[in-house]
Amino acid sequence: MTVRVRIAPSPTGNLHIGTARTAVFNWLFARHHGGKFILRIEDTDLERSRPEYTENIMTGLRWLGLNWDEGPFYQSQRLELYQKAVQQLLDQGLAYRCYTTSEELEALREAQKARGEAPRYDNRHRHLTPAQEAEFQAQGRTFVIRFKIDDDREIVWNDLVRDKMVWRGSDLGGDMVIARASESGSGQPLYNFVVVIDDIDMQISHVIRGEDHIANTAKQILLYEAFGAKIPEFAHTPLILNAEGRKLSKRDGVTSISDFKQMGFTSAGLVNYMTLLGWSPPDSTQEIFTLETAAKEFTFDRVNKAGAKFDWAKLDWLNSQYLHNTPVDKLTDLLIPYWEAAGYSFNGGRERAWLEQLVNLISASLTRLTDAVEMSQMFFTETVELSAEGSQQLQQNGAKTVLAAIITALDNQPQLTEAIAQDIIKQVVKAENVKKGLVMRSLRVALTGDVHGPDLIQSWLLLNQIGLDKPRLNQAVAA
Ligand code: GLU
Repeated sequence: MTVRVRIAPSPTGNLHIGTARTAVFNWLFARHHGGKFILRIEDTDLERSRPEYTENIMTGLRWLGLNWDEGPFYQSQRLELYQKAVQQLLDQGLAYRCYTTSEELEALREAQKARGEAPRYDNRHRHLTPAQEAEFQAQGRTFVIRFKIDDDREIVWNDLVRDKMVWRGSDLGGDMVIARASESGSGQPLYNFVVVIDDIDMQISHVIRGEDHIANTAKQILLYEAFGAKIPEFAHTPLILNAEGRKLSKRDGVTSISDFKQMGFTSAGLVNYMTLLGWSPPDSTQEIFTLETAAKEFTFDRVNKAGAKFDWAKLDWLNSQYLHNTPVDKLTDLLIPYWEAAGYSFNGGRERAWLEQLVNLISASLTRLTDAVEMSQMFFTETVELSAEGSQQLQQNGAKTVLAAIITALDNQPQLTEAIAQDIIKQVVKAENVKKGLVMRSLRVALTGDVHGPDLIQSWLLLNQIGLDKPRLNQAVAA
C-alpha cells in the first residue's frame, strides 16, 4: 500500500504548536514508509479564514523542514466536488433536506434538557413527502442537508494510537448536517463532510490528527461507507498539555510556531522537541535527532495515549544543544536577524569576520538565540552603563591607576593581539605591584560595565577592533 497522509490546517489562526506536532507525526510516518505528505488548507469557513494565516502556516511548516509533496490544496476551490457528493447522497436517499428552524431546534433541546437527556436532533424531517417539502418552501424556510445515521449502528475502528474504538450511532447526535443553506442556494458543505470527500479524493491511507477529532471519526466512517470508499487507518495523537495538565492554549503565552521562532528557538531544536511530544524512540535515552533520523524509527506503537506535557526546560535544553553544535558561520546567520530586530547596527567595523568572532565568544552560553541580544549589547553600543557592582569595583584602591597604566601600555601597541593583551596585564601587575584579580576585574568593568561576562581577553580584542576599548578605559578612569 502506498502511504499517503495529510496535514489539514484551518487558516483561522497562525500555525499552532498542536497542528505543527501533528504535521511532524504525519511527516515522519510518510517518510518512514516512503509515502507522500500532502498539505490541504481547510478554508471552508470563509468568515474566519484569512490568507495571512495560510501564509503563516506554510512559512512555519517550511521553517520546520516539514516539506510537503503535494498541495497546497484549498477546499474553497473544490466546492463543486463537494456539492456533487452532496447530490449523490440525496439521489441515493442517504441524505435529505431538513427544514427545521433554529427556534424548533432550540425548543427540542430545551425539552430534552428538561427530561435530562443529551441534546440530539430527532430526525423529524427524515421522511418528508414532496408535498410537505413544498409547503415548507412556500413558508420561506431554508434547509440544511442531513446525512442519515442509524441509531443501532455500531462503529468500530482500530486506532493506531488508541487501539479499539467503539461508538454507537445513537451517540452521534442524530442525523448529521453535511451542508448548510447558502446564499447561492447550492449549499455550504461542512467540515465533517468535506474532510471525507477530500480524503477519499486524495487517496489518503492514514488519517493522523489530534485526539480532539475522535468524535468526528465515527461520523466520518459512516460517510466513507455511504460512498463505498475504502476507510483509511486512523491515528489520534495525544493533546499537548500545559504544566497544570490542561490543553496548551493561548493563555499559556506562546502557542504558534512563529512565536517560538521569535522567542529564539531554532527550527531544528523545536522540531526535535515536538517529535518527543508524545513519541519516544526505541532507545529512549536518545534525545537528539533530526527529522530524518527520527523518521527511520517512527512507529505508532511508540506514541503515547496520554497527553504530552509541554516542558519548557526540556525545550530550552534541546535548543541549547543545537546552538552549541551549530557551526559559527551558520549561527551568525541565525543571529543577525535577532540583532537587527533589536536595532543593533553593524556599522563601525562590525563586519562579518568580527561578528563571527563575537558569536564564537558567546555561543557556549546561549540557550535561545534571543539570549545573544542582551549578551552582546555591550559590543553594539558606544558606551556602557556601569552596574552597581561595576562602580564599586572602580572605587577599589588602585583600580583607576591600573586602568591608566593599561591605557599607556596600549598606546605603545600598534595592534592588540591575544598575546599582547596578556602581556600588558602581566606588565601592569608587576609595575603596579597589584594582584592580577584587581587588574582583570577593573579592566572588565571598564570595558563591559559589569563584573561578570564572557571571556575578558576575547571581549577586549573585539572592542579593540572597533576602537571602543580606549574610549571606555578613558571614561572609566575619569568616572
Ligand atoms: N481542519 C482540521 C483542524 O484544523 C483538521 C481536520 C483533520 O485533520 O481531519 O483541526
